[in-house]
Amino acid sequence: MQFIRDIYSDARLAGRPVLSLEFFPTKTEEGERTLLEKTVPALLAIQPSYCSVTYGAGGGTRDKTLGIVDRIQRTHHLPAMMHLTCVNSTQAELGSVLDEARTRGIQNILALRGDPPPGSEFVKTEGGFEYSRELVAFIRQRDGFSIGTAGFPEGHIAQRDGKLVDWQYLAEKINAGADFIITQLFFDNADYYEFHDHLVGKLGITVPIVPGIMPILSAGQTKRFVTLCGAKLPAQFLRRLDELDGDDAAVLAYGIEYATEQCASLLEFGVPGLHFYTLNKAHSTVQIARNLGLPTA
Ligand code: FAD
Repeated sequence: MQFIRDIYSDARLAGRPVLSLEFFPTKTEEGERTLLEKTVPALLAIQPSYCSVTYGAGGGTRDKTLGIVDRIQRTHHLPAMMHLTCVNSTQAELGSVLDEARTRGIQNILALRGDPPPGSEFVKTEGGFEYSRELVAFIRQRDGFSIGTAGFPEGHIAQRDGKLVDWQYLAEKINAGADFIITQLFFDNADYYEFHDHLVGKLGITVPIVPGIMPILSAGQTKRFVTLCGAKLPAQFLRRLDELDGDDAAVLAYGIEYATEQCASLLEFGVPGLHFYTLNKAHSTVQIARNLGLPTA
């Protein structure tokens, strides 16, 4: 399987954007079957270059995440990146997850501090890491991994000193060895452009800064997500969501229309790729790629 850093550099030379997809581990076996046998195959139609699988809040999905990443790589021959977090883990435990990943041929890791269990604040585990920068450096000491890191165009929700301070810490993660940045979801491209220009122009960052796009599936779910991650909803977008509330099909169609426009502007700006938070659904992401005229099978 390819390193994701090489996927971005090959695509840059070829002058094309990289499409990537994010999934989460399902709670049930049936859900996992649907993901692996229906959702992923449907999404292969838009020719993604890689996908990623989240690590559950609280760090509780280690085996599921490893298993799904492994099965996607073996069954669908699609490079798959494992998310890995510092929550509830000692360095020794993180080392053993990396050993297991390597044994299974998993070469790409998104290194994160991680979401604490709902309703609590992040607390460093005794013998673990306080910040994801330390996890990046820990993985970098081992050969054979390409490392991604999270970036926050509106600043990280827990950073009380503001987004510029948060972005400075992001630069430290790159200096520690991260190869590319995937952003938190955002709905106003102006936030991405400001973030990008600051990272590149002021902080000298040269790694790919990949926008994370979430095609909305429902009004309630979108509002819950933005509350959790601190992203804002532009007033006009929120008004339209409220107008359509209760009509699920109309919300879905509006989500596709909005994300298509968002992605078209980002591609025109020259982003290295688009990372879709699929929420384990294929329809919206496939439709957006088709609307954008991206190559499809
Ligand atoms: P860090 O880089 O450690 O930053 C955390 C906070 O500490 C920030 O406020 C930062 O400004 C501050 N900080 C950083 N360094 C320092 C320092 N040296 N001194 C003082 N302050 C500092 N969560 C999951 O649980 N599982 C997932 O699979 C997952 N996937 C994600 C995928 C993407 C693309 C993104 C954007 C987020 C994902 N998250 C996931 C959420 C993420 O784990 C949380 O947002 C988490 O709170 C921050 O993670 P981080 O790696 O950016 O943390």
